Amino acid sequence: MHQPIENTKKKATNAAALLASARQAVALTGAGISVPSGIPDFRSAGGLWSHFRPDEYATLEVFLQNPVKAWQLFRAMAEMLADKKPNPAHYALAALEEHGRLTAIITQNIDGLHQAAGSKYVVEMHGGSNMLHCLRCGYEEALDTARLGENIVPACPECSFALKPKVVLFGENVAELESVHGLASGCDVLLVIGTSAQVYPAAALPGLVSRQGGSIIEMNREPSLAAATGIQPDFFLGGDIAESLPRLLKEMEQQL
Ligand code: ZN
Repeated sequence: MHQPIENTKKKATNAAALLASARQAVALTGAGISVPSGIPDFRSAGGLWSHFRPDEYATLEVFLQNPVKAWQLFRAMAEMLADKKPNPAHYALAALEEHGRLTAIITQNIDGLHQAAGSKYVVEMHGGSNMLHCLRCGYEEALDTARLGENIVPACPECSFALKPKVVLFGENVAELESVHGLASGCDVLLVIGTSAQVYPAAALPGLVSRQGGSIIEMNREPSLAAATGIQPDFFLGGDIAESLPRLLKEMEQQL
């Protein structure tokens, strides 16, 4: 889909104006924002799920019954994420928060790149891969990537149960659901970035914000929100997110 450049620029300016006057803008981010950082969407061809079928490796049941097998996936995931850095899209969101124009980020990503870019208020619906936790006693520790090569399942020092990354496996509950709903209920501008918001609870947010009179700005390579959720965004900004998001930030800064 090609749009005349003038038209695209006008849309970015209008979207920036909306953002500049928002009471509570919230960003909902997904895999697409980390693709420019070299992290393929887990669901894409060549992504993590094409090497490790989720129903075979990424369920709570598999972890409990066969932690050695689940750790093949966890190890591959940690190794893949170990050297990844935030890209200009992550930094643009951190700058929006710094300007007081973005209240929070709700992310479906587990890569920790929003925090690495300097974002303060990040709600990780699917948890984060840089912490390990114990499902039996609640013990937590930071993931030590230097130990990944040891090929053993790390054990809880308190109760010796197998530790797992603090990511939400299939069969586990989504994290921070109350924060997600609290943020969405006060939100008047929702930025949907790098996700089609197909999966619950992300899928419920555009509708919720729209019903309370809020506006939706979709930033994806191709429009996908309307097809996935039935919600038509007020603005769609396409193309490479690592370019379009810094551009939106710049437009917004001119309106402050
Ligand atoms: Zn324990």
